[in-house]
Amino acid sequence: MEHNAKKKVILAGALIVVAVGIGTYQVMQSRVSQAEIRDSVRGQTYIVCCEACDKQFDMDAVAYMDAIYAAGTGNYITCQLCSANNAWKCGDRAVDPTPEGLDQFDLTSLAGIEDAKRSLNADYADLQDELRRVAPSDQARIDELKQKIKELDRRRAYLDDRWDEEAMKQAGGR
Ligand SMILES: [Zn+2]
Repeated sequence: MEHNAKKKVILAGALIVVAVGIGTYQVMQSRVSQAEIRDSVRGQTYIVCCEACDKQFDMDAVAYMDAIYAAGTGNYITCQLCSANNAWKCGDRAVDPTPEGLDQFDLTSLAGIEDAKRSLNADYADLQDELRRVAPSDQARIDELKQKIKELDRRRAYLDDRWDEEAMKQAGGR
């Protein structure tokens, strides 16, 4: 009986040594891939969804990976909006640089975005006006104006997205 108990202790001890060994190996493995993953996602932006507040926010991919590793074994990170530990990467933000012509506006505030929209709408109206008055035979000018209108559409879509993001951020921060 006592002999059996001793055997069990030795077996348990051996298992602990093996388990610690495997654990250490895995940590070392994950350190390597961690650095690789951080490099591979650099410059990307993730869309992070929260199951607790049902909102989403953008997060720098490297910061997200760090948060995942800091969180330990779980796949969830802390939500930036409601602070619940229920947020996870649910998409990639397509790399969409700020369109040209918006540099003079502060696109980090709702007021700034609205300023940009107002200015854009004025330009849009001018272009539409000119398009209406241009001679139908002047195809080159018509193409040029249509191209400019297309650019404004792109800026407008960008501003709409920025506005939504900013409004959501402010609603969540309250
Ligand atoms: Zn949340």
